Amino acid sequence: MEATIAKPVSTATLFGHPMGLFVLFFTEMWERFSYYGMRAILLLFLIDNVRGGMGLNEAEGAAIYGIYTASVYLLSLPGGWIADNILGQRKSIVYGGVIIMLGHIILAIPSGPGLFYAGLCTVAMGTGMLKPNISSIVGELYPEGGARKDAAFSIFYMGINLGSLLGISLVGFLGQRVGWHYGFGAAAIAMALGIVTFQTFGQRYLGEHGKYVARTTTNDGKSSGGNRSLLLFLAVLVALMATLQLTGVLDLTTALGLAKAMGAIISMVALGYFVYILTAGGLDAVEKKRVVVLFVFFLASAMFWAGNEQQGSSLQIFADRFTDLNVFGWPMPSSWFQNLNPAFVLSLSPVLAMLWIFLANRNINFSVPAKFATSLILLGLAYVVMVFASKLALTGMRISPVYLASTYLFFTLGELFLSPVGLSAFSKLSPKRYTSQLMGIWFVGTSLGNLIAGLFAGGFDEKNVHQMPQMFQSVAYFGLGAGFLMLLFAKPLQKWMGGIK
Ligand code: GLN
Repeated sequence: MEATIAKPVSTATLFGHPMGLFVLFFTEMWERFSYYGMRAILLLFLIDNVRGGMGLNEAEGAAIYGIYTASVYLLSLPGGWIADNILGQRKSIVYGGVIIMLGHIILAIPSGPGLFYAGLCTVAMGTGMLKPNISSIVGELYPEGGARKDAAFSIFYMGINLGSLLGISLVGFLGQRVGWHYGFGAAAIAMALGIVTFQTFGQRYLGEHGKYVARTTTNDGKSSGGNRSLLLFLAVLVALMATLQLTGVLDLTTALGLAKAMGAIISMVALGYFVYILTAGGLDAVEKKRVVVLFVFFLASAMFWAGNEQQGSSLQIFADRFTDLNVFGWPMPSSWFQNLNPAFVLSLSPVLAMLWIFLANRNINFSVPAKFATSLILLGLAYVVMVFASKLALTGMRISPVYLASTYLFFTLGELFLSPVGLSAFSKLSPKRYTSQLMGIWFVGTSLGNLIAGLFAGGFDEKNVHQMPQMFQSVAYFGLGAGFLMLLFAKPLQKWMGGIK
């Protein structure tokens, strides 16, 4: 029940930003604590058969890891839709948070695979409801846009990574050293703290932000036409999956088959969407060119995350099996390597901010396509390091952590050239009436990348360990090849952006 006398909304600021930003910062910090904390031990738990894990083989475990992480980002599409049309962002965040917490509670109960997968699905659904909507409210706090909005998103990105750092440290330690389910339980408690933070301070500091629901009207012929094309598209997907299953190309009863099918579906949805919007979206010539540029960014982003998100998959296995984990005589939990990513984000963000200012002051134009190209090249370099590291590991010794640390350094630098840059490019280049949908497509790119990262780690089983260097080499070639190709096209791509920087 609402109180009859509404509390006044505070106009207080901190570091020049509204207090509401910090409510969102801490809520997202706790949510990412639970997400990255659990993710850090997920694959290890799935393939463990000694300490009460699921005992799956690497290919199955990695496929499930891929399906899970891909679903989390894919479900932000319906999550955004529910907020826009039914609940509003504020309620979606609260419900999403509660669903995530319930999911982690389910995971914390030692049980069989059925309950465990139900827990994973629950966390993924809750995250889909929370994640896109909390970022939208950040944007809403700054209707004037501009540099202050960019700064707000950077602060928010710091919250994400602070949560990730704390989560991986605590959940990783509990999971690997005390018991898997204690780790999952800690993730549930973190999410509870996030909900309490949001509920306690949201009312006071967020005012009416995120309460708006734009109900869709269905009174014109267009929406029923849209429904018909959607149904047709779904029918084609079902027919395609049935054909693949019946012809034996995919086996949808296995995790690996499901993951591959999911990859095919995500790619078709994205491609179908771009074809639709370009041919039937009623865009003018300038808008069409911008959407083509966004399509290139989408591909680059999927490729980038496919390499970067191997932190929780192949690189996690590499840390666990082949890396020297001794820190001054103390054996560190292998999942702690994943801490390097948020730690580098937190320390490098200010450096990059200074670099952008330095270049701007000298009128040096570092275009968005050139930044994307740079991020792919950095990703390629990260995996060049892994080629050497894996060759050394094959000699039978546990190798120095410096290798993995360098890999993390390269692709985290790459992340900072792509992740915040891509978010703002999508919001600026999208034709106005398609902005939320295209923002959703940005997350679909992340989803596809996560799935590929999972599928890739499937090749990491003990039997074909000698193939490690070639596997890493293929990622290195892809990154470098795609990066240099994009660099070649950076100028024309920038022209097609039509004056937007
Ligand atoms: N680390 C960022 C987050 O959690 C970006 C993740 C991604 O897009 N893959 O929001």
